[in-house]
Amino acid sequence: MIVRTRFAPSPTGYLHIGGARTALYSYLFAKHYGGKFILRIEDTDRERSTDEAIRAILEGMEWLGLECDEGPFYQTHNIARYQEVLQQLLDSGHAYRCYCSKERLEKMREEQTANKQKPRYDGYCRDREQDASKPHVIRFKNPQLGDVVIEDMVLGKIVYANSELDDLIIARSDGMPTYNFTVVVDDWDMKITHVIRGNDHVNNTPRQVNLFLALGATPPQYGHLPMILDEHGKKLSKRTGAASVMEYREQGILPQALLNYLARLGWSHGDQELFSMAEMIEFFNGQSLSKSGAAINPQKLLWLNQHYMQHSALEDLVSEFNWQLFRLGVNAENSGVETSTIIAVQRERCKTLQEMAEKSVFFYTDVNSHDVKAVANHIDADALRRLGLLQERLIHLSHWNAEHIHTQLQKLCEQEGCKMGQIAQPLRIALTGNTLSPPIDQTVYLLGKEVVQKRLQQFLEGQK
Ligand code: GLU
Repeated sequence: MIVRTRFAPSPTGYLHIGGARTALYSYLFAKHYGGKFILRIEDTDRERSTDEAIRAILEGMEWLGLECDEGPFYQTHNIARYQEVLQQLLDSGHAYRCYCSKERLEKMREEQTANKQKPRYDGYCRDREQDASKPHVIRFKNPQLGDVVIEDMVLGKIVYANSELDDLIIARSDGMPTYNFTVVVDDWDMKITHVIRGNDHVNNTPRQVNLFLALGATPPQYGHLPMILDEHGKKLSKRTGAASVMEYREQGILPQALLNYLARLGWSHGDQELFSMAEMIEFFNGQSLSKSGAAINPQKLLWLNQHYMQHSALEDLVSEFNWQLFRLGVNAENSGVETSTIIAVQRERCKTLQEMAEKSVFFYTDVNSHDVKAVANHIDADALRRLGLLQERLIHLSHWNAEHIHTQLQKLCEQEGCKMGQIAQPLRIALTGNTLSPPIDQTVYLLGKEVVQKRLQQFLEGQK
């Protein structure tokens, strides 16, 4: 059997971390077994689906590197096929037209609720004469006897009595097929072998299984993932961190950190915490999936992010770093600045790429203002005089590298009988606008002789 999984988001919002985790697990499972991962956009709910959400989902998937082997397929492009299968179910007697008015259905529901019964359709139209010209919906004739038994990859054995399931509407009065039906047709046509999804869908599963059986098809195996919870164990909401994947990007999280984080949010492999993509694929075999809800832990995500910032190859960080700079109005691509060296000196002191970019803007753009407090604390006549001396020495420095710069700074300290900080801090302020920067010799080196001269000159003139 060739394993085929799919991620089937409804494009009604952004790709949030719950969806991303579903996508990741489906992806890993397929890759582990040498199978295929399919992307299907479930956009039949035309009122709630938007092109913007489709774009956001595709963008999120691309950023995470969860490339599909087939797709994206769009359900709205497949309506003719759904109509065909609807007809097949009508013809084989597994579906029927229902002409019940809204009023009748409402009255029935009220009576059932009053009698403390679960609201369900009573099958009134099951055996009524069929007339396609009258307004109708199409219902699936759910078996009335027996049980649906599901061996869930996560939850284990689940049993539903058919008597609990009523006759599901599979096409609305405007002819549009409904969710539970289109999912089945597509999973069937796409030969999906394993469906991994959130457990908000678990109650749909027996209905879907019955539809498969009515079509003479074998249902896939299902795995329902528990919900992601907030830090207090409550359902995740927008407010408590159900952020879109792209918001994590904006916060300066690396895709590999988020993937590693999501992998552990409901799955384990011994007590291992750090996983490369290759390891996730190697170990993710559909076992050791957690049944209970997983609580988000922002500290852990930051920890992972820092880990990947420090241990990734520099060139793997450049594009995210440039993206962050771009958001700050800096085009780093043709700036002539040695971006990977900047990353090398900054990465130990930053938790996110956003922070790193904010702290590195001065490498790329002129410094037009200097922190007032820093100036008040560190700049006096002596400091300005020393900066003047230093400027002279740096002009004449023939080998521009951090080591030589350091020697010049040290020599000046000795000559002046002052501490390094008494030269380094004023220099930092002049060059970067405040007192925070990587080691001063590195900073001076990376800025380059010309920029250092220009900034020192401007600063000294501004202080006159
Ligand atoms: N389209 C559904 C959703 O976004 C998922 C359907 C499924 O995975 O079966 O919730």
